[in-house]
Parts: sequence; C-alpha cells; structure tokens
Amino acid sequence: MEIRKKPVGFYQEIHDCDAFALLKAIGIIVITLFLCFSSCGSPALAQEECVVLGSQGNPLPMGMVNYDRTNTEKEINCVVHVLHDNQYFPNSNISLGVIQGAFGQLNVDFDETNISFNLVHTTYTHLGSFSWADSYRQDGGVCFPNYGTQMAQWTNMVKWNTAEYCNVYVAPDFCSSILGFAWVTYYPWSTLDGVWVETEVFGVTGPQLTWRFENETLTHEMGHYCGLHHVFKNGDGIVSSCGQNIGDCEHTGDYICDTPPTKVSQGCPEEPGYYCPEVTYYGVPFQANNHMDYCPEECRDTFTPGQINRMHAMLEYQRSELFSDETFCFGDFDGDCHVGTSDLLYLLSYYECQGCTHGDLDLDHNVTSNDLNLLLSVYGDECDCGSLQLPRHPARKPEDIRELIQKTKQ
Ligand SMILES: [Zn+2]
Repeated sequence: MEIRKKPVGFYQEIHDCDAFALLKAIGIIVITLFLCFSSCGSPALAQEECVVLGSQGNPLPMGMVNYDRTNTEKEINCVVHVLHDNQYFPNSNISLGVIQGAFGQLNVDFDETNISFNLVHTTYTHLGSFSWADSYRQDGGVCFPNYGTQMAQWTNMVKWNTAEYCNVYVAPDFCSSILGFAWVTYYPWSTLDGVWVETEVFGVTGPQLTWRFENETLTHEMGHYCGLHHVFKNGDGIVSSCGQNIGDCEHTGDYICDTPPTKVSQGCPEEPGYYCPEVTYYGVPFQANNHMDYCPEECRDTFTPGQINRMHAMLEYQRSELFSDETFCFGDFDGDCHVGTSDLLYLLSYYECQGCTHGDLDLDHNVTSNDLNLLLSVYGDECDCGSLQLPRHPARKPEDIRELIQKTKQ
C-alpha cells in the first residue's frame, strides 16, 4: 500500500511554529471564532461527540482475540453517499477529490492494521429531494442520528448491500455537537448500517472543513465499524475519572487489554488534566493518543496491537462478506442463493417504479424492462453462498453489472 506522509494540520502548525506563526495562528482562530459566532450560531471549537450504535456487549466468542492470531489482509469496498444543499449548507456538495483525499488519509491511518478501504462508488442526493428538507435546514429540526425514519428514506434510496459494502454517509449539521456515528454491531436487517460523518469534518482539504482538518472522525468511526469501542468505555457509559473501571480487561471496558481504561480525553498527553497519571494498567501506561478517544487530531494517531487484533476478529466474525466474493449472487433478491420465481416476482412488484433501488439491477434508480432483461439473463443461477442464509439485498458489483448490461444489449 502506498504510504503517504500525514498532512500537517492546523494544530500541528501551532505546535511547531515560531512566534510570528503563532501570532498568525491566533489571529486565524480569532477570525474563525468571530465568523462562526456571527454566522453559524454555534461555537467553532465544540467538543467532539460520537454515538456508538448497536449492542455494547462483547459479541466475540472466547478465544477469538489473542496475540498469536493471523490478521490476514482485508480490503473493504466502500460506497460514499453525500447529502448536500449548498444554499443552506455551504460547500456541502463536496467534490470527488475531497472524497478520494479522505480515503487516502483513512488508509494512511490504517496502514499498520493490514486493513484497507477501497472507494468503489459515490452517490449525491440533494436535500431538497425529501419532504422534511425544510425541517432539516432549521436548527432544532430533523437531524441525524435522532431521526431514523428520515435517515432510512435516504439510505434506502442509495445504499449498496450492507453485507458486502461499507456504506459511508456524509451529511451536514448532525444533531448537537455530534461529528459522527457508526454501528459497532452488524445487523443484516439494518437499513442504517455503516459509517456516518458530518460534512464539516470530512476530508483533509476543501472549503467544507470548518474546524477539524485531519479526517480523524472518519478514521474513528471506521474503527467502530470494524468492531472497536471507545477506549474510555465503561459498560454503556464512559470513564469520567481516573481509577474507574479497573477490572478484567477482557470482559470490561472496551474488551481490550492494551488500552488502559483512561477517562475521556479531549486534550493530548502533554496537557495536564486530560489524561490519567503515569501509572500502568496490565503493564501499559495510560495515554491519550488513541484513534478511539476524543483527543485532538495532532495526537490521535494510534491503534494498539490489541485493537488491531480485535478489528480483524470482529470483521471475520460479523462482517466476513465484506472481503469475500463467495456469496455474490446477482439477481438473488431474497437471499436464497438461487435466482428464481420469487426473485422475478420481487422485481415485478417494483416494476415501473421510479426512484427505486429495490428491484433496480442496473442502478439507474428506475425499475424498467432493462432490469427485467438483466434478471432473465441470470434466471436459474445457483450461487455458492457457503453457510450464509440471511436475507439480504442483491449484491451489486459494477464490473459484473457492466458485463450483464452489455450482454442484454447484444
Ligand atoms: Zn466514537
């Protein structure tokens, strides 16, 4: 994998600079604060918050995480969905270059893990497509992640099969000061599964960035998606003071032994008050530099070996189809690994539907005779689905679809 130097961020500039640059940086902060207080109505330097969705328990069978395990290379295909409305949320219509830059940095952050992310497709949806757009545009109206029904209207329109693709949703102005959220537990029936990042912190360049410049929210949420909890997790809550949650590291906290149960940290290790004293826990010193903490980006740069092992174990346990081609079954809507009558009836039930993803095989969001022809071209297919027998939406792989479309046109 290509290794790129981590871009120098705003905070690093402040730390590394001379007196003149420091004054310049302070000037920028003052101007930024002034602009934001006068135009956005909310502080620019809000504390990070993140919501972890799904079961907070440890779903891994005993013995799946150990230091001898082999973490085979995993590449996860991702689709990025952008919700935008430049008129109300300036610069929310982020470019493909911004998305590619975000994935470049994500892969740098995961470089030591043997897990990488492949951007395969993007979708753009205008907020005005939804009846609740006006409410979303108003402070205190519809916002994510509090409004599941509205979220599902968007995800059902654009998402790719959650078993085989990581769906990344980028939208402006989440509820409160939440910057991102993700499902740490995979539910095949969940229409909202995936990673959600606020537009204002997505990417490493671009005018959409308002205060967080190093794409760390995407890295952090992807950590959740791969099965990690916050390092300050304590049951369903957080460790708010040092000395809390000192127990069996395999069964409490974040279920990882080389991440001490540090309290939630919004500063770096050199900043007193934000981290626990220099004592050790299972031989590891307390720190505040982990990707799964809330510390600022200039010091958020580590996944521990235990976290890397857990990500591999969790991905293999609950998201194995992400990096396996064995279960791909084009046209198999009902997930029985056979393309047959029920799949045909399913497609016909959406026939002539406009703006539909169900029954839409050629991804034009309309169910037409072309989709019917595509299904008939694979009718009778038996697929090797291994032991998996979960209902799922049709897998959609661009190269296979292109080939099939070509075939139906001949
Ligand atoms: Zn989080």
